[in-house]
Amino acid sequence: MNDKRIRKIVIVGGGTAGWMAAAPLAQKLRPGGQSGCEIVLIESPDIGTIGVGEATLPTIRYYNLALGLEGADFVKKTQATFKLGIEFRDWGHLGNRFFHGFGDFGPAIDNRPAYMHWLRLLRTQGGGALPPYEDWSTATVMARQNRFTPPQGEQPSAANAYSFAYHFDAGLYAAYLRDYAMQRGASRVEGTVVDVELRSTNGFVTSVKLADGRRIEGDLFIDCSGFRGLLIEGVMQAGYDDWSDLLPCNSALAVPSERVGPLTPYTRSTAKASGWQWRIPLQHRTGNGHVYCSGYTSDEDAQRVLLEGLDSKALAEPRQLRFTTGRRRKSWVKNVVALGLAAGFLEPLESTSIQLIMDGVGRLIQNFPDRDFHPTHAAEFNRKVLSQYESIRDFIVMHYKLTRRTDSAFWRYCAAMPIPERLQHQIELFRHTGRVAVLDPEGFLEPSLVSIMMGLGVTPERYDPMVDLIDEVALKTHFARLRAAIAQTVQSMPDHAQYIARHAQAE
Ligand code: FAD
Repeated sequence: MNDKRIRKIVIVGGGTAGWMAAAPLAQKLRPGGQSGCEIVLIESPDIGTIGVGEATLPTIRYYNLALGLEGADFVKKTQATFKLGIEFRDWGHLGNRFFHGFGDFGPAIDNRPAYMHWLRLLRTQGGGALPPYEDWSTATVMARQNRFTPPQGEQPSAANAYSFAYHFDAGLYAAYLRDYAMQRGASRVEGTVVDVELRSTNGFVTSVKLADGRRIEGDLFIDCSGFRGLLIEGVMQAGYDDWSDLLPCNSALAVPSERVGPLTPYTRSTAKASGWQWRIPLQHRTGNGHVYCSGYTSDEDAQRVLLEGLDSKALAEPRQLRFTTGRRRKSWVKNVVALGLAAGFLEPLESTSIQLIMDGVGRLIQNFPDRDFHPTHAAEFNRKVLSQYESIRDFIVMHYKLTRRTDSAFWRYCAAMPIPERLQHQIELFRHTGRVAVLDPEGFLEPSLVSIMMGLGVTPERYDPMVDLIDEVALKTHFARLRAAIAQTVQSMPDHAQYIARHAQAE
């Protein structure tokens, strides 16, 4: 066995990021077992967690699956509901509504995506009798009717091809993962880190000192301390790229409200005069929040907008959060790796923070170092993190940039702001040719880009001429049959709330 192996991992921070890191590391390394690697997580009794973070992307299921967490148990323990996508309201213009669903608009035809064939019919038929493209997104049709069941069968039929994620209570999820990690040998220390000791020869962290005087030594330190970035910034001074010019929102107010029926299997995002409001249905309550830019509205007005936008009674006083959108220039420096808010923050418009944590942990395991910490581990990790952050940033910026709202100074700024060249290219490519440039395979893929651009009113001027090779009558028949099959499949699905009641009782 390599005698340079990591003997002790110290995770600083017990929020979602800390426990999402501890669980798979404990599963892989089995602290106390053959690897001989100890895992210690430090959380402060005095510094709270951010506590929001309730909507996810479908890949959370693979994270849970890899840990061996059983679906029904997870849904019960975290008060989870199912998420088929996001309904956007008032983003393109006041009254604009569209759905970003998980899954495609039907299977590709002759190697060309289904939406491209739909564009052909739109152009050749003039659109009048053509049903909206969302009718071919099973997730969207399910969401419209508040129905849910997972895709059936090993190889689901075309009408059954959709994906799903969860909404859950972030505090309960962290507790669930804590139990998991501790059952597998990770240990937890309660204390506040007040000082850090560095090796004089190379500046690596050797130990952290707690307020009560205890010292905790380690080989690898994972900084999950939240926005403050205690080790990655406070000690390693990694630097921060501030992206506020592209994503000007810098504040949020979050408030839970009573659960109301029907239980919607999707997140709702409603654009407001100086930001947007989320609505996330959980089993026991509804999560709400208003993300806004303090340069365009006061906190008092933002709170009024939030409370007026609730569709059920608030259960607490709104909680204020401040942030600076951006990313740490390096997430891995020497023997410190940052995950979660310590690594950066992109507003929760497309529920990407938990995804970034998950991918970060996965990458750390893939690039797991020994005590030499060869710098190529960090270089590869940082390369991928930087690229993923930029690709997600551009996707979120697209939502703002494509607005046609002119009713407030905030939206006028967003419509006029200069955007990165590659995002401009992506939008122009779609606008003129109907084609989509997927800039990062770890970012959002073609169906998501099409959903947002079409939803916000970019209808391509042209379509791929290759799709004209398909017989038009056969194409129309195919589309009509698929649309009917989707409608029929969805009609036979249970109501979302009923499905949860049954699912959560399955244990
Ligand atoms: P935190 O929750 O801040 O935890 C930090 C931890 O570090 C705490 O345990 C604290 O005690 C500890 N700590 C700090 N300093 C010290 C110290 N000196 N000594 C010891 N311990 C210390 N993500 C999504 O995926 N979906 C969403 O819908 C979503 N919505 C969001 C809405 C808003 C308004 C915001 C701000 C974020 C949202 N997020 C969302 C992001 C999500 O909340 C975070 O990514 C997630 O909670 C991870 O937080 P964290 O663990 O990095 O930090």
